[in-house]
Amino acid sequence: MLEIIVRLLELQDCDQQILMTKEHLARIPIDRQIVTERQTAIQNQVDFIRKQVKELESKRKQLEIDVSQKREGIEKYSLQQFQTKKNEEYRALEHQIQTTKTEIIRIEDHELEMMEQLEKLERELKELQKQEEVVKKEVNEQLTELKTCEDKLLKELDSLQNKREKLSSTIEPAMLARYERILKNKNGKVLVGIDRGVCGGCHMRLSRQLVVDCRAQTEPCFCPNCGRIIYYTPEMDVAIVD
Ligand SMILES: [Zn+2]
Repeated sequence: MLEIIVRLLELQDCDQQILMTKEHLARIPIDRQIVTERQTAIQNQVDFIRKQVKELESKRKQLEIDVSQKREGIEKYSLQQFQTKKNEEYRALEHQIQTTKTEIIRIEDHELEMMEQLEKLERELKELQKQEEVVKKEVNEQLTELKTCEDKLLKELDSLQNKREKLSSTIEPAMLARYERILKNKNGKVLVGIDRGVCGGCHMRLSRQLVVDCRAQTEPCFCPNCGRIIYYTPEMDVAIVD
């Protein structure tokens, strides 16, 4: 094989590795976001339940205040009842005392319902907090893994770029420029083999003369259709037999 083809193939291999490494690196921030979102979701759930518990607790406290105020009312009415000498006033006060007692029972029933609800919410909260701890631990582990992976890829990329610099310095500038141009336009596939007499890149049938020239391996050949560098290896022997 032509020396220049060997070097270009090495460069192409290096470029493909660079491309893959860059693609891997580009996925890391996306993965990091997905991982973090999992934690945010459960945190929001916990905050939501916590807020409900707080609201319910303050409502319950208000009911307690209402009850104690009503009890004070009953005491006041009883005292008035004790002091009055008028029968009618006595009966009116008695009526008020009974009404207030009924109201207290109603409020206390409501309070009981709230306490049941609170207990249910607190159980739910406890369960969620347990889950939150597990998720937090997993997320931290995953973030650490991602960081390790990112560092490794950055290191690899750095060494690949060094390797690329060395490889490209051995290639004649005009050829390198041509290579770079095709690399940019053809998504990383610059050098292609001849496959059954067609270009391995664009699959256009090549002229017999071009195949013969390519097989002679005296100078680099190019596909007249896509401009890629075409090369020949003995393994492709069958390929040129039409
Ligand atoms: Zn082609």
